[in-house]
Amino acid sequence: MAEVRIENLVKVFPNGTRAVNDVSLAAPDGEFLVLLGPSGCGKTTTLRCVAGLERQTSGDIYIGERVVNDLPPGERDIAFVFQFYALYPHLSAYDNIAFPLRAVGVAADEIDRRVMRVAETLRIKHVLRKRPRSMSSGEQQRVALGRAVIRRPQVFLMDEPLTNLDAALRSDMRVELKHLQRELGVTTLYVTHDQTEAMTMGERIAVMQLGDLQQVGTPLEVYQYPATLFVASFIGDPPMNLIPVTLEGDALQGASGHLSLALAPDVAGAIRQKQSGPGLVLGVRAEDITLSGGDEGDMRGEVTTREPLGDQALYSVGLDGQFIQITTAPTTRFGVGDAISLSIDRSRMRVFDAATERALV
Ligand code: ADP
Ligand code: MG
Repeated sequence: MAEVRIENLVKVFPNGTRAVNDVSLAAPDGEFLVLLGPSGCGKTTTLRCVAGLERQTSGDIYIGERVVNDLPPGERDIAFVFQFYALYPHLSAYDNIAFPLRAVGVAADEIDRRVMRVAETLRIKHVLRKRPRSMSSGEQQRVALGRAVIRRPQVFLMDEPLTNLDAALRSDMRVELKHLQRELGVTTLYVTHDQTEAMTMGERIAVMQLGDLQQVGTPLEVYQYPATLFVASFIGDPPMNLIPVTLEGDALQGASGHLSLALAPDVAGAIRQKQSGPGLVLGVRAEDITLSGGDEGDMRGEVTTREPLGDQALYSVGLDGQFIQITTAPTTRFGVGDAISLSIDRSRMRVFDAATERALV
């Protein structure tokens, strides 16, 4: 097992696309690290560079203490499973999974034990005798996963390996795969565009956007303390409310006077000192706003919609041409059109610089 470290990784394709832009990132030995970001942000390219399938333009990749920049994939001691898996079509699922072990001469009874264990975890015992052609795409994907995890390499690299599964199986597989990784203790880089997958599986999450690494943190850190506007808008459902404001004296003011949020003087001072210009963005999560019927809150508005979600209610309230989303206990009963006031939990809000898009406090 080993640490994986990426230093100042840059990948520019021959057509000029800058897919990875100076990314530095380390997964300590045994960690399950998720690369999360929208399609096209450079996740696959980063992983392919670590795998040795793509040569980076500049930067270094370490596996353990070794610089692996010039090693071919076969000498990096990694196992990978990619979105577009390739199974040997003429081999059964069993033989596909067993292949990497046979290649290094593991004894047949040991192979059998390990194949059955992996097949059990991935729930593919029933297809072990079949060839890929007669399996569903979800089964094929799990066989490909099985073939990757059957070995005990230094590192697992996984690129959206659960994509082809239906929702129920995907959520089971999240748990099983995480469990298996923990049991094996193999450092894992796991790529996904699905924030639920990232939040539930990752020990830490690295959020990427347009080739840039935006933030690395535990699921709770990236949720509660997004470092950039992009992370704030990408993580969470509903995403963080982002409201344009300016600092006037010690209070944040919205565009039209419907929002006025008094800050502690030291907080206001910190913002003043760090801001690059007048434009700020207040970030607050739906669950960190309370609604009331009076007019003593930080914002006033009218209820636009109310959606009962079972365990909670989701409100949207119009404010200066945007909609603020608020989740409350399911028992609150404000109706559409009701004038209400909103109070923001000061200890949970973020303030971003509108120009740099980075969090100030
Ligand atoms: P992700 O996996 O996050 O969806 P990718 O790493 O596949 O993103 O792609 C990042 C960017 O690099 C995209 O703009 C993509 O179009 C581009 N790209 C990927 N592979 C190539 C390639 N072989 N040649 C040129 N551009 C590429
Ligand atoms: Mg990809």
